[in-house]
Amino acid sequence: MRWTAPALRNLLARLDETYPDARCALEHEDPYQLVVATILSAQCTDARVNLVTPALFKKYPNPAKLARAKTDELEALIHSTGFFRNKAKNLIGLGQALEERHGGKVPSDREALAALPGVGPKTANVVLANAFGIPALAVDTHIYRVARRLNLSTANTPEKVGIDLCQRFPEDYWIPLHHQLIWHGRQVCDARKPKCEVCPLRDLCPTGSGKIEDPHRSGA
Ligand code: SF4
Repeated sequence: MRWTAPALRNLLARLDETYPDARCALEHEDPYQLVVATILSAQCTDARVNLVTPALFKKYPNPAKLARAKTDELEALIHSTGFFRNKAKNLIGLGQALEERHGGKVPSDREALAALPGVGPKTANVVLANAFGIPALAVDTHIYRVARRLNLSTANTPEKVGIDLCQRFPEDYWIPLHHQLIWHGRQVCDARKPKCEVCPLRDLCPTGSGKIEDPHRSGA
């Protein structure tokens, strides 16, 4: 099944209608808080991160405080997000790098962001899009799965799926599309049991309408 330009427009309109309020689920008030929350969200739910960050940001309200955090105290605060030792090390390194290299501010430059401790290309894209409004499309597990089921990409890595999506859609759509595909993956296109029978995209989806095999039959 090939996507035509009208079908892609239809898909975007359907996503807009279905998820008009889709937005970043990580609670944050500034770029610093978003970088920290995104680092914590690795292998952890956004809901869990949101339970942890209020106390964390109270104790470490800026990169300077985070740079001087005591490891054991920081680990105790973020313990429930998993991989807490590695995350604590990265967070302290992040605070130090922001202080030393960027005057205590989060840079809005992709390369500078991706060079920060604990911040790879995916986190850099999340921060660029959500903190600075710069078009970027980070591919998480939900987007990877939904994009492949919709046959928007047949690539087998998140990076390549991201390249395919960015080629298919104008950059004005990247930020809302990112959120809408995540919401769709969470609410309808579940990894193990996609709710195709109630899916608003079913008539556009080759997997849900039985035209191709589910690329995630055994779970994403
Ligand atoms: S029809 Fe099924 S597989 Fe396709 S997007 Fe909807 S829930 Fe996912």
